[in-house]
Amino acid sequence: MNFYVLTLFPDMIEQGLNTSITGRALEKGLLTLKTVDIRDFSEDKHKRVDDYSYGGGAGMIMAPGPVYRAHQYVEQYINARKRAAENTGAGIEEVQSINKKTRVIYLTPQGNVFNQSMALKFAGEEDLIFLCGHYEGIDERVLEMIVTDCVSIGDYVLTGGELPAMVMMDAIARLVPGVLNNDASAEFESFQDNLLEYPQYTRPEVFMGKAVPEVLLSGHHAKIEEWRKEQSILRTAKTRPDLLEKAELTKEELKFLRDYLE
Ligand code: SAM
Repeated sequence: MNFYVLTLFPDMIEQGLNTSITGRALEKGLLTLKTVDIRDFSEDKHKRVDDYSYGGGAGMIMAPGPVYRAHQYVEQYINARKRAAENTGAGIEEVQSINKKTRVIYLTPQGNVFNQSMALKFAGEEDLIFLCGHYEGIDERVLEMIVTDCVSIGDYVLTGGELPAMVMMDAIARLVPGVLNNDASAEFESFQDNLLEYPQYTRPEVFMGKAVPEVLLSGHHAKIEEWRKEQSILRTAKTRPDLLEKAELTKEELKFLRDYLE
């Protein structure tokens, strides 16, 4: 999985992603990250990238030219990388994807709100370009020209798209095979099947008088699974009933939920 980020603050992205699990995945080559400083593509002698809003209003708007040129540069870079892979005898999929346009995700509070199923969908791509806005956003015309997906990380407004891009890259990266030490840990967690994850415990067995639920010490796998599923259902019912409506529950699980709600 190759991440490309068009940003005015490349250091922020580099520092954020080169840490912990994503940092190790970058070291191992399971992920690659290329940041592109939009300011490098300004043709202004002072390297300005923003200007006043037509029609008036507070705040500055990122100009279309530098964003467009930064995107062109990264598209060319991706195609050159794929051609180099072709010459070194890369797999057929890599060669076939040379002329495919890379998805460009614009981080914006006006986009579709990011969730786990979007992370899964994006994790299926080989390359992803993230476009981070700043100030009051980016000139609409260049967005219309290059953006394929508009994504928000929630109903609040941040100062820039860098944190949202990092949120997305983190969620997508952990779905890339090998990034997590134990692939199973990405399979059974919150939002899988529209349920939140069950409570988890580690040693000590008793902490400040509070014991780990007995069933988890029983070694009885079927009972543990049943308990975990029930806990997932209860948690989801309490905090995210909207999710539970979409979850597919067995007859027994539905009865368990009804008994709880009564
Ligand atoms: N004027 C814009 C509006 O009302 O939609 C908000 C601009 S915001 C101050 C600056 C940049 O931060 C945006 O271009 C976007 O890239 C990023 N941003 C802010 N909040 C975000 C969110 N919730 N999700 C994704 N990106 C966000």
